[in-house]
Amino acid sequence: MTTLSVVVPVKDEEEAIGPFVAQVAAVLDGLRDPAGAAERWEILFIDDGSQDATLAAIITANLADPRIRAISLSRNFGKEAALSAGLEHAVGQVVIPIDVDLQDPPEVIAAMLARWREGFEVVYGVRRNRLTDSLPKRMTADLYYRAHNWLSMDKIPEHAGDFRLLDRKVVDVINRMPERNRFMKGLFAWSGFRQTSVEYDRVERKVGQTKFNYWKLWTLAIDGITSASTVPLRVWSYLGAGIALISLLYAGFLLVRTMLFGVDVPGYASMMTAILFLGGMQLLSLGVLGEYVGRLLVEAKHRPIYVVRDEIGAPATDMDAMKMDGA
Ligand code: UDP
Ligand code: MG
Repeated sequence: MTTLSVVVPVKDEEEAIGPFVAQVAAVLDGLRDPAGAAERWEILFIDDGSQDATLAAIITANLADPRIRAISLSRNFGKEAALSAGLEHAVGQVVIPIDVDLQDPPEVIAAMLARWREGFEVVYGVRRNRLTDSLPKRMTADLYYRAHNWLSMDKIPEHAGDFRLLDRKVVDVINRMPERNRFMKGLFAWSGFRQTSVEYDRVERKVGQTKFNYWKLWTLAIDGITSASTVPLRVWSYLGAGIALISLLYAGFLLVRTMLFGVDVPGYASMMTAILFLGGMQLLSLGVLGEYVGRLLVEAKHRPIYVVRDEIGAPATDMDAMKMDGA
C-alpha cells in the first residue's frame, strides 16, 4: 500500500472544487497496488488567498470526506509559493501536484504510479500537444523553454507543467531549499534523481478562467531564468570586451589615416551612433544587474515563503507515521 498526497493550489476556484473532488476521489479510490489493495490518499488544497467561496467549498468537501483537507494562506502568495506550502504539508510517500481546473487528467496518476514502482523518483506529465493553447501562447512557451535550457545548467523538460509525481525523497529535497524565489520547475530540475515522463493530452479548462495573463507569465519566465542562470550577468563582460577591442582597432585605423591624409569632415553621425548604442547597452546591463541585486535583497530578508492562516482537517495519523519513518 502506498500513501498518496494530491496537492492542489487554488485561487478563486469556488466552482471548480466540487467537480475536481468528485472526479479525482473516484480516480484515487480506483487505484490498486500490485497486491490488489486500495491505496491510501489525501487531497491537500492550498487556498492561496481566495476572495470567493473556495474555502467554504473545501470545508464542505472535508466534512463529507476527511481525506480532503486544506491549508489556507493569509493572502495570495502566488502559485509557486502555494505549491511550496503544499509540498511542506503533504504527508504521502508520493506527492502529486495538480491544478484544480482538470486540464490535467487525473487518470494519468495510475500511469505515473506504475513508472514510480519501476523505480523512478520523478514522473512528470508531458503534454502530447498544446492544441488547447492559443498560437501566441504556444510560441512564447516554446521560445521560453529554449531560452531557459540554453542559458541554464539545469534543463527543464519541455512542455511539462507542474502535474507530476514526486517521491518523498524529492519532496524532502525541495522542502530543504531555502530560497524565496520558488520557480518550482527549476527546483525540480535541480534536484536530480531518476526522472521519466508520461504523455497526456491537456484539455480545456472546464470551469472558471485562467489566472495567468501574459505579464504574469513574463514575470514567471524572468524568475525562472534569473534563479537558474547567471549568464545574463556575465554576457556583458564579453560584449564589453568585444566592443573595446573593435574600438581599439578603429582608433588605430583613424590614427594612421589622419597621419597620412589629414583630418576631413568631423564624424558627427558616427559619434552619435556610438554614444547612443553604448548608452543603451549600459542601461540594459545595469537593468540586468538591478534585476539580480533586487533578487538578492529579497533572499537576504529571509522572510517566510508563505504564511498559513488556517488548517482545515488534519493528516491521517498513520500517514504521518509513514512520513516519519521515511518509508
Ligand atoms: N493558482 C494559485 N495562485 C495564483 C494563481 C493560480 O494557486 O495566484 C492556481 C489556480 O487556482 C489553479 C492553478 O494555480 O489551480 C493553475 O492556474 P491556471 O489554471 O489559471 O493556470 P493555466 O492552466 O492557465 O496556466
Ligand atoms: Mg489551467
